[in-house]
Amino acid sequence: MYRFKPELRIPGPVPVPSEVSLQMAKPVINHRGAVFKEKFPKVLSRLQGLFETKNPIYMITGSGTSGMEAAVSNLVSPGTPVLCLVGGFFGKRWADLCAAYKAEVHTLEFPWDRAVDPDQVKDFLADHPQIELVFMVQNESSTAVLNDVEAVSQARGDHQALLVVDAVSALGGTPCQMDARGLDVVVSASQKCLMTPPGTAFIALSERARAYMEKVESSRYYFDLRKYEQFMDKGETPFTPNIHNVFALEEALMMMEAEGLDNVYARHMLMRDMMRAGARALDLELLVSDADASPTVTAVKLPQADEFRQRIREKYGVEFAGGQGIHAGQIFRVGHMGYATPLDVLTSLAVLEIELKKLGKAVEAAERVLTAR
Ligand SMILES: *Cc1c(COP(=O)(O)O)cnc(C)c1O
Repeated sequence: MYRFKPELRIPGPVPVPSEVSLQMAKPVINHRGAVFKEKFPKVLSRLQGLFETKNPIYMITGSGTSGMEAAVSNLVSPGTPVLCLVGGFFGKRWADLCAAYKAEVHTLEFPWDRAVDPDQVKDFLADHPQIELVFMVQNESSTAVLNDVEAVSQARGDHQALLVVDAVSALGGTPCQMDARGLDVVVSASQKCLMTPPGTAFIALSERARAYMEKVESSRYYFDLRKYEQFMDKGETPFTPNIHNVFALEEALMMMEAEGLDNVYARHMLMRDMMRAGARALDLELLVSDADASPTVTAVKLPQADEFRQRIREKYGVEFAGGQGIHAGQIFRVGHMGYATPLDVLTSLAVLEIELKKLGKAVEAAERVLTAR
């Protein structure tokens, strides 16, 4: 048995470029010192470019869920009527978090292989004028569905509800356009499309969301974004940040800017289309239609998916992800986000076609997509 190189093909965390991981080896600096104070605001303004927003971005040390909890704890008072759009595991996480903060939780359930239907959201809001917050997921990693945040934002019409978006596995893989789309709150994290190690979450709030936050009565301390706001003016965070994650993130954002954000998004679409063409050439059934398919992760139906994944992990060191919730054991998911290229998709497809004894089929189909671009 030989030693494998880690070959992560999961929807986060993702591999990290060596330029980025080298940042993690830098000496520790004072988070209240001059170097950090100079660097931190620059990283936040790079993030604003990615969010496509003029709104302030708060950085929290924690995983993506810490950013989600920061959103809920700063926006939900006991009894606040909220609507959660649930079409997968992470949509359900919004509903669970809102329940934990004692919101009056309404949910609209969508099939776990399809995008959120904006018309249903529109009808629900028309019947429920009291709803104050709508929570949704842009890229539902558990099902590999990309939801149309712009359509949901517009479906609100002149309804009062603020729209809160989990963009953890979307930001950096597909356009965010926070301001143009009228998104009120956007949450993301370092370890997905931003090709940085896990440990940092970000949250951006519109002016309306910031005003709303002022009157929220829930208990909060570590996640109290008013504290983050006060320290932001000094170029600091209220509590010790994940300093090295900030260094690493800056490097990753510079790499993405150098590639060009449009090119980054086009690369993700190309990888998606190659992956889907290859899977189809192997007669595998995709969980999601072309119209709703995620650019950052692909879900493939397969009986005994977990045993199949285990064989592939043991033979080749390639890690695919399993199914979550109702899809546990029924699908496997191939991540193609962040530090990933068409070559990574070709190698994913190569191990699939070897295991399925359909040599040549998937790689050839994907190569046709690649050369046609
Ligand atoms: C990864 C992910 C999260 C956050 O998960 P953590 O493990 O807390 O970082 C949230 N939402 C989506 C859609 C995700 O893909």
